[in-house]
Amino acid sequence: MKLSFDLDDLLIPGTKRFDVEPQGLFHRLLGTEPLRAGTVSLFRALRSEGHQIYIYTSSFRSPAKIRLNFLMHGLRLDGIYNKPIHDQKLKNYRLSCSKYPPMFNIDLHIDDSEGVRTEAERYHFNVLVIDENDKDWTTTVLRNIHHLSASFYF
Ligand SMILES: [Mg+2]
Repeated sequence: MKLSFDLDDLLIPGTKRFDVEPQGLFHRLLGTEPLRAGTVSLFRALRSEGHQIYIYTSSFRSPAKIRLNFLMHGLRLDGIYNKPIHDQKLKNYRLSCSKYPPMFNIDLHIDDSEGVRTEAERYHFNVLVIDENDKDWTTTVLRNIHHLSASFYF
């Protein structure tokens, strides 16, 4: 499946706080942003299952910066959609929403925002909203993906 992950307050702490992956001296020197604890093992598991991993963020971070941040943790991304890319693409649709994964052929988007859940209900796309207090969030993600895969293929 083609999966996309939000950044702020899902994988990168902002207003929401959660444990992060260990950061070495190298990370601090390069000023990379911390990733939520569990991201590395989750992405590796998804990759081994053959899923494509994209970032879909409403931020203006450049794709190059985002790509480097994940590479610093040994993670390769299949692609990145930031706010300018989203805005440009959304012009082709008569919609007003902060995230619209179907226009990028994304099968499941994972986010922290209840607003995106509302958009998913209105515009009929698959979203999984993760709570900041979900200590076992990687299992929540994997379980939902397996559930959705089953409904896709069987
Ligand atoms: Mg967010």
